[in-house]
Amino acid sequence: MNINRLYVSDWLGKYSTKDFEEMYTYEADDLGMRLEGEEILLKCWSPFAARIALNIYLSGEERSTRVEQIQMIRREKGIWQITLEASGYLNKYYDFTIVFENIPDENSKAEVIACDPYARAVGVNGKKAMFINLNKTNPDGWDTDRNPNQSMAWNDMVIYELHIRDLSADLKSGIKNRGKFLGLIERGTCITDGKEKIKTGLDHIKDLGITHLHLLPFYDYGSIDESLPYDENNYNWGYDPVNYNVPEGSYSTNPYDGDVRIRELKQMISQLHQNGISVVMDVVYNHTYNEEFCFNKFVPGYFYRIGEGNVLSNGSECGNDTASERSMVRKYIVDSVLYWAKEYHIDGFRFDLLGLLDTETMQAIRKGLDNIRPNILIYGEGWKLKTELTKRNIVLATQKRVNEMDRIAMFSDDIRDAVKGSVFEEGKKGYISGNRECVEEIKTSLMGLPEWAEYPEQIINYTSCHDNYTLFDKIALCNDKIALEERIRQNKLAIAIVMLAQGIPLLHAGEELLRTKVNRQGEYISDSVREGDAVNSIKWETLLKPEYQNVYRYYKGLIAFRKNTGLLHMTDPAEIKKAYSFAETGNELVICFKVVRNDEIMIVVFNADETAAEINLLDSFVKEETWNGVLKEKRFRCYIDDQAAGSRPVSETVYDEKDCTVTVQAQSCMVLKNIQR
Ligand code: CA
Repeated sequence: MNINRLYVSDWLGKYSTKDFEEMYTYEADDLGMRLEGEEILLKCWSPFAARIALNIYLSGEERSTRVEQIQMIRREKGIWQITLEASGYLNKYYDFTIVFENIPDENSKAEVIACDPYARAVGVNGKKAMFINLNKTNPDGWDTDRNPNQSMAWNDMVIYELHIRDLSADLKSGIKNRGKFLGLIERGTCITDGKEKIKTGLDHIKDLGITHLHLLPFYDYGSIDESLPYDENNYNWGYDPVNYNVPEGSYSTNPYDGDVRIRELKQMISQLHQNGISVVMDVVYNHTYNEEFCFNKFVPGYFYRIGEGNVLSNGSECGNDTASERSMVRKYIVDSVLYWAKEYHIDGFRFDLLGLLDTETMQAIRKGLDNIRPNILIYGEGWKLKTELTKRNIVLATQKRVNEMDRIAMFSDDIRDAVKGSVFEEGKKGYISGNRECVEEIKTSLMGLPEWAEYPEQIINYTSCHDNYTLFDKIALCNDKIALEERIRQNKLAIAIVMLAQGIPLLHAGEELLRTKVNRQGEYISDSVREGDAVNSIKWETLLKPEYQNVYRYYKGLIAFRKNTGLLHMTDPAEIKKAYSFAETGNELVICFKVVRNDEIMIVVFNADETAAEINLLDSFVKEETWNGVLKEKRFRCYIDDQAAGSRPVSETVYDEKDCTVTVQAQSCMVLKNIQR
């Protein structure tokens, strides 16, 4: 049998049997290499291999010459192991030769070379693992490195979703380590037109006021050839995992030396922490780069869901679906997440296509992370996808099942699509572009009560991320020949809704400077995964334009307002229902509501109409005497209007004293808050 066919077989249907699970589930936490005193203990799992040999190399390149071969020893539960003297092997590279005999149906042999699925360090392009002393990769102060927002409630967080390269790829960014881990932590970088000096890179992010930096995949992925020099067109988002437990080499200054990428990533994390920013890792356990994934070479066909006729299940649309419900795949995923949390001090995990993993796996991850540190953030894409499960009674971790798991948040496509229009229909408008059908959805999303969620900390609110058109481009696509001013108004209205909603807000990097993804032909790009830096990089010079600066300040102001307003951080749905009341405005596109809790009162108006709206607040809300008094006492200040937003009032006079009328400009937002005694 061709080995490639073996990769998509169920080995006589054994993998899916209870017997197999019982006989071969290995529970100890010591797969891969461990440094124990003067010795290296190396273990791998391969129940049906006839022989496994360990190959040793002096360098990690694919074609480096083997200098030694050692037979691994078979143990119980499908485990193979060997003990080596550390002094002779540390910093050397290795892989395995696995021999299968009696392959089902064909009585044939196969021999494959595989990297260690539990590799902690690898050479260039992740072909060979490296024996490493991880303690030697720690930057100064690593022992005391902490998540700066460790005790922060989830709905106090503001997440910023960024591709490592996009921040520094633009030659005008002023950042030296272009596209690298280290580029993310350069301070004092700026762009200038001779007069103005504007912060770029980390200084920009810090100034914006975000709390959590969500980074697109930075484990070792397969789509970038690390051996090539930096090339603006050799770009990928990285949703194609090769070595799950190793950082990506193209983000390091030297992908050949297994130490360097580890050291630089830790340095990056420690610097971000010192700057008050927590790190969220984008993890992709739902599929692998291809079926030659090393785990699958050790146990052919075990790692994936396989449908009838030995066809790989492909709900991920990336070629394969991980069989997370199988005990050793589950263990692998759990071990990997916990490893990143422990070794790299990762503060949160964003699960790609979480709806393809099962709830039991996610619960195990939740429990494992809680044992390491409190409050590690977990969220993911709970989309429902078609996949071929290998067992019965498995529950997939979809949005609908969010309540069956403990403290795992999900992206809300409800608010995303209601605000700007469906991502699946290019010209489909959302509320900000005047679509009345979205109004009810906006209201429930503002309260953090979409029907699938039980409480707001299960909800990631956003309007755009790396997938699909940027918010600014989507607005242009929905509105023919839209003027720049109007496009900006709609963009500001969109982000105001996200920042004022109950739940956890997430921003797409560059949204705050009206990020656009346009190719040379002037076309907007929806899927920029392979487009290169020209399309993907954050274009810092746009910030030199006053109207873009204004948008940036608006985002910054909204974040500051959100952080400073307790009413936006409610956790209990009953409390929310009690606190919120929506007014009749006579115009569906004008959403007006008040939020009242104890002495705190906030009045919010969103106007998605093309004309200004006059709102009489007395008419709008119940004409209780108390309200009459409250409004007439003029204790309200405006914190957000069409122009500005902030944690301090942006204007003094907000309504006419006699009739309590406010004017909310076209396609804009207004927020009033009382001055508390
Ligand atoms: Ca790689």
